[in-house]
This record gives sequence, structure tokens and C-alpha cells, in this order.
Amino acid sequence: MTPSEVLQDTHKRIIRDLRVSITDRCNFRCVYCLPETEEAANFYRHQRPDEHPSKQETKLCYTWKPRAQILTYEEITRMIRVASSLGLNKVRITGGEPLLRRNVESLIESIVALGTIDDLSLTSNGTHFPRLAKRLKEAGLSRITLSLDSLDRENFRKITGRNGLDDVLESIRLAKALGLTPVKVNAVIIRGLNDHEIGALAHFAVQENIVMRMIEFMPLDSGRAWQREHVVPGSEILERVQAEIPVAPLPAQHAAETASRWSLGDGQAELGIIAPVTQPFCGQCNRIRLTADGHIRTCLFSVHEHDLKPLLRNDSSDDKLAAELQRIVWNKEPGHQIGQSGFVQPERSMSGIGG
Ligand code: SAM
Ligand code: SF4
Repeated sequence: MTPSEVLQDTHKRIIRDLRVSITDRCNFRCVYCLPETEEAANFYRHQRPDEHPSKQETKLCYTWKPRAQILTYEEITRMIRVASSLGLNKVRITGGEPLLRRNVESLIESIVALGTIDDLSLTSNGTHFPRLAKRLKEAGLSRITLSLDSLDRENFRKITGRNGLDDVLESIRLAKALGLTPVKVNAVIIRGLNDHEIGALAHFAVQENIVMRMIEFMPLDSGRAWQREHVVPGSEILERVQAEIPVAPLPAQHAAETASRWSLGDGQAELGIIAPVTQPFCGQCNRIRLTADGHIRTCLFSVHEHDLKPLLRNDSSDDKLAAELQRIVWNKEPGHQIGQSGFVQPERSMSGIGG
């Protein structure tokens, strides 16, 4: 492919990876994403008693997008087809909680049928996965990432707002049994909330032989309550794992990898540390995102997005769509500015963007 046939930006980064949010809705109310519960409000209130808006406010700070604005599976598949004609070959289905949307397996089937996507994965909170796992596997899903922030039933409920621990544990074992591997597990580490579980999560990874990815808390919560003090730096996460289990560095699998990778214990299990706040990896970023309502975001922290619905819904040709995608990607921002004076938190929370 020549440069004019790929998705390339002014910083010479070539986009290969599309995160597709298929719904902004979710059945969880994670403290770091869609905080709504009294406990979430309490957590933030205790950090900064005078400043935080959650002092009075515990309602969901987000309204779901109207259904008419949500892309159909046909529209999503077309977007992926057009993007893959420009060299994109990796797709992750996400949300919100993607498994809340009906018939996800039919979307997976359509994407697989394109024959252009080498790596098709899905991220889920695990509540509906046990019911759908077999169908997703049969439809052609290659692998899954599940979220698990705590191994303690009560703390899990405090963080996510729901009693979902058993479902996630069942999902992890089922994903392994079905060969949806490597099974990756995401844990967002937040100081004062689950950082005391870093060691236990690492031990769990060894016991289950999985990839445990510990992620720094990013300012993408709908309540806009994020503070730098909540972030446990990746370097500290690593030290705290090392205090429990021997680790050894693993080579990057590709240049755009977000996680620093470490083998855990005897080498079967893996630790990934994703540190976008303290060790940004924007220079190698090869990702863009498609929101459930059809907007392209060229960065997690974009403050401008590009609505492709008009083109998708007014009979525009694939060529026109491809040209628009190239124009949008060309202007991808150099990187996020967390911690700098000019930083502005995006309007959408992680659930609305698609993590
Ligand atoms: N609902 C699904 C889930 O939770 O797995 C998929 C969507 S969720 C937005 C995708 C990932 O983003 C999850 O692993 C979640 O932990 C992570 N996430 C959400 N908000 C975050 C934040 N503020 N900082 C870091 N990671 C976050
Ligand atoms: Fe829902 Fe996932 Fe956000 Fe939690 S992180 S509220 S499960 S979208």
C-alpha cells in the first residue's frame, strides 16, 4: 500500500487499530467511569471534602444517546470494511457494555466475513458473557478482555456498583476453556480503593495463567472527579507486584503496544502495566475510535470528534467515506496533555468513548 492508500497522520503514524463502541449504555457504575452510587460519591468526597461536586451530586452524570443515533450493525461493518481497505487490521468491540446489545454475535460474524481483520477482540465486564460465550466463539471472536478490579466481593461492589464478582470469575474460566486466548484481564488501580489488592491480583493471574493488565486511572470519569492523587503510577504498581512475585521483562510484541509486559512467577502468566498518565505512549499510537453514535475520535482525549453518520446515512460512496477517514486521521493529535496546564477533560466518559 502506498502512503495515500493507508490511514496516516502528520506524525507518520499509520492507523491499524479501531476500537468500536457499540453502545454507550452499561449495567455497571464503575467509580472511575460512570460513578453514580452513594459509595462512589463517598470515595471522592473523602479525598477532597470541600471541592468535589459529588458532595451533593450522586446522580448519573451522563445521559444515554438516543437509539436513533446509534449505528446499526450494517453501518458499523461498513465502516470497518472501508477502514480495512486502508490497511486497518485490528478491531476491538467495546462500549459501554457491548454485551448489553442484542445479537452481538451477528456483528462478529459480519466482521469475520470481511476477511480483512486479523485480530478481533471484545472487552466486557463479564456479566452477560457466560450466557453468550459459546455463541461469540462460534461467530469467530478470537479473544476477550474482561474487567476485574477486585477479588474481594464487597470491594468489587463498591468499585463497580454491582455484585458481579462471581460472573467475572466464571467468565474468565469459561473464556480459557473456550480458547478465547490469551485471556486478558483489566484492573484499573486507584489509590485508596484497590491498590491494596495489587499483590492479590498478581497472584490470581499466576493461579489462572492469564494476562493481568493493571491500568492507571485516567481522567475519563463522567463525574469529573479524577485527581492526580488517585493515580498509582505504573512504576509503583510494578514495585508492588515485584514485592510479591518475581517478574521478568518481556519484549514488546509490536511498536504500538500500550502495555509494558512482564512475565510473572514461572513465566506462564503475564503482567501488563498500562501507564498512560505517567508514561504516555502517544508517539507510537496506531489507534482511532468509533463511538456508538458514529463519531470518530482520533485520541482517547480528543476534544473534537467527527460525526460520520451524515455520510453513512446519505448514500455517500465508500470512496467518499474513505477520503473523509483519511482527512480525519491526517489531523490526529500528537498526544494527550494530562498533567499540563492546557489539559481539558473530554466531554464523554470512557463508557461513551469506548475503552
Ligand atoms: N464495559 C466493558 C468493561 O468494563 O470491560 C467495556 C468498556 S470499558 C470503558 C473498557 C475498559 O476501560 C475497562 O477495562 C475499564 O476498566 C477501563 N476504564 C474505564 N474507565 C477508565 C478510566 N477512567 N481510567 C482507566 N481505565 C478505565
Ligand atoms: Fe461500564 Fe465498563 Fe464503564 Fe464499568 S468501565 S461503568 S463496566 S463501561
